[in-house]
Amino acid sequence: MPTLPFAPPPASSFAPRANAARARGPAAVSRRAALAAAGAWLALPGTTWAARAAAAAPSAAPGVWPQALQVPGGVARLSLGPAAMRPVVQVRQGDADVPVLVTGDAIEWTAVVGIALAAVPGDAQVTVQPAAAGGAGGAGGAARTVPFSIAPKRYAEQQLKVSPRTVDLSPEDQARYERERDHQAVVMATLSEQPAGVALPSLQMRVPVPGRRSSSFGLRRVFNGQPRNPHSGMDIAAATGTPVVAPLPARVIDVGDYFFNGGTVWLDHGQGLLSMYCHLSRMDVQVGDVLQTGDAFCKVGATGRVTGPHLHWGVMLNRTMVDPALFVPA
Ligand SMILES: [Zn+2]
Repeated sequence: MPTLPFAPPPASSFAPRANAARARGPAAVSRRAALAAAGAWLALPGTTWAARAAAAAPSAAPGVWPQALQVPGGVARLSLGPAAMRPVVQVRQGDADVPVLVTGDAIEWTAVVGIALAAVPGDAQVTVQPAAAGGAGGAGGAARTVPFSIAPKRYAEQQLKVSPRTVDLSPEDQARYERERDHQAVVMATLSEQPAGVALPSLQMRVPVPGRRSSSFGLRRVFNGQPRNPHSGMDIAAATGTPVVAPLPARVIDVGDYFFNGGTVWLDHGQGLLSMYCHLSRMDVQVGDVLQTGDAFCKVGATGRVTGPHLHWGVMLNRTMVDPALFVPA
């Protein structure tokens, strides 16, 4: 596992606030009791989410998941402060406002924002609105913005010379690819609350298959001088037939056999946190199936456009592929 170039904790990191919440002691607890109806997404009674995450992973710094890395392809964790109800957060992507995952409880909410590989380094922001009165899940009240910064990161580039036939698709293959791309865009826009019927225990993920993990997330590939989409996931070396397990509770939202990705399953973990598994030899689930952490649901293979068996694992936040390494222990 390569060492990731973690950025220093941003000023907006919620750790100091979590400490402040703990320091408030009984007052914070009684306030929590008064706000018990808040319907926290990741809350247990009597402690903050950050404190529980730290207790669950005492050796992991900074002890909360995913780890923040404010670069293209990374994740920003933005402190939103206290509120009785989970606020509604959105980030502008192109001409769309995309919902952002928010964790925590009435004492402290945190937005977990996926940063696109194509994001321009510099100033960025999310918009935050109080939850609508009545608990319908919508936004109410005046919006405010929470700024954050995106540091530059230069990902490696790989120049490949290959037979033109393997780069230029036939008209039939091109049409198939475009159909599948459109279908995948619909899958990637999935947004649900608790798709597995349970609140997530934390956002720390179990590694879906044992094996050597590549550090090739973000790698820019150039075939015969033509730039292709950067590598948007983690490759894990494993033999065909190795079982793949769910990294978090999930609902299966797509099962298919695609031109580039081969046998593919998409999982929905809630609030726009999705994960994808590609090049599978077997898919033992159907759309709608519910999985708990550790449930085996498919097998490693070499289907689609690959040179050998491995699992391609992708993690998506707010319709943006982010580095899976930020979600798992090193
Ligand atoms: Zn891959």
